[in-house]
Amino acid sequence: MENNRKIKYLVQGVQTSDGAGVNLNRIIGSPELNMLDPFLLLDEFGSDNPNDYIAGFPPHPHRGFETVTYMINGKFTHKDTAGNEGHLSDGGVQWMTAGKGVIHSEMPEQTEGLVRGFQLWLNLPKEKKMIEPAYHDIQADEIPIVHLQDGQVKIISGEYNSTVGPGKPHTGVLYLDVHLDKKSNISIPVENGWNAFIYVYEGEISANIDVMKGTLAVLEADGSFECESTNDNTKFILVAGDPIREPVARGGPFVMNTKGEVLQAFDDYQSGKFG
Ligand code: MN
Repeated sequence: MENNRKIKYLVQGVQTSDGAGVNLNRIIGSPELNMLDPFLLLDEFGSDNPNDYIAGFPPHPHRGFETVTYMINGKFTHKDTAGNEGHLSDGGVQWMTAGKGVIHSEMPEQTEGLVRGFQLWLNLPKEKKMIEPAYHDIQADEIPIVHLQDGQVKIISGEYNSTVGPGKPHTGVLYLDVHLDKKSNISIPVENGWNAFIYVYEGEISANIDVMKGTLAVLEADGSFECESTNDNTKFILVAGDPIREPVARGGPFVMNTKGEVLQAFDDYQSGKFG
């Protein structure tokens, strides 16, 4: 167990509202955990009440980072000023590189009574903040699954057990969705030096600390993450990334290196330079 990446601390999200009044749980990007380099924000949206999300996220801009939206349940339609339009359904991922700037809308839709998913903001390094915007949908059947004796691991980005996911980040990112059907153990290798977290969205796990449903655990910097599920239906995401280690200046939907660059982004947006 020498090579064990322990849990450093736990974070509870805060209930907030964004877009046109979508109720969500903000787990990264809140006063408790402002960021975990290179991750700027993690929102969980999940409700069986359409009023919580149906107004969606009408057109709004972004510059300087990538958004990765994982729809566990529900449908999702995206349109942007780069001319992209995409439709995701249950289990799919939308990977958008805002780069120098897009205006987009993100509209969730109910399937079988439930909308549930995550949006992660992944920072871009200085030399890539002003690249051309890009966008791709990853449908559920394009996400490889490694089957375990008592569960499965979906690989959205990076590698697990020699299987590589379809995500194409501009920096190193591992993004796994782990399901454990019985009380069982798993060991997940993570690059040394990468910042990593897990977020338990069903059931609970036990490592050096117990992690209940609805809790994020920030992990130490080195080694594999080992844990045990303590019930028969445990699901968590494990996300890790190569830290960028640059100054971060945030202004709403823009994330740059300096305050001046953020003000420039507001200027460019207001003068119609986002297309
Ligand atoms: Mn957005």
